[in-house]
Amino acid sequence: MRTVVPGPCPVCNADIEYLYQTDNIPYFSDIIIIRALCNKCGYRYVDTQVLTTQAPGRQEFHIETPEDLDIRVVRSMEGTIMIPELGVRIDPGPACEGFISNTEGVLDRVAGVVEGLIACGNENERKNAEKFLESIAAVKRGDLPVTLIIDDPSGNSAIISEKTKKLPYPEEEDTGEREEEPENPSE
Ligand SMILES: [Zn+2]
Repeated sequence: MRTVVPGPCPVCNADIEYLYQTDNIPYFSDIIIIRALCNKCGYRYVDTQVLTTQAPGRQEFHIETPEDLDIRVVRSMEGTIMIPELGVRIDPGPACEGFISNTEGVLDRVAGVVEGLIACGNENERKNAEKFLESIAAVKRGDLPVTLIIDDPSGNSAIISEKTKKLPYPEEEDTGEREEEPENPSE
């Protein structure tokens, strides 16, 4: 279902169209994709939301085999993506967009950011980035199991698999301000 709703651009106030599109995923629930594009100032908005789940929560999924790369991932604008084994944490920001992808798409996004560093980083950063990209490739081959976590205070993000663990939203992070605490005291 697609619905077009006219409205003002929040940046330049021009009349633009907001497109609401619902996407039904079998065995799961309805998803709504909201898009807008302002031709005058270039403002762009994309958000995705799961319509049935609304409680704040954490979703956790282990990427272990190449088959796991096809698992659908819905990230709302408020979702924080983490892959602890790779040291990845993507916080929602002003430029943050919601998206529907699969786990492979999430890995590609992360790789894309790091590839940018190879182009403009120093020797050391380049080496680290290349190492990181090798790790991503290993995850895709199924040689390096990792955990994909999405924390979402709006409850609108989801990793769509029976293997996904649904956990309570971690309270201590709900302000977005993290206290300094030693995570892994060095031995
Ligand atoms: Zn505009």
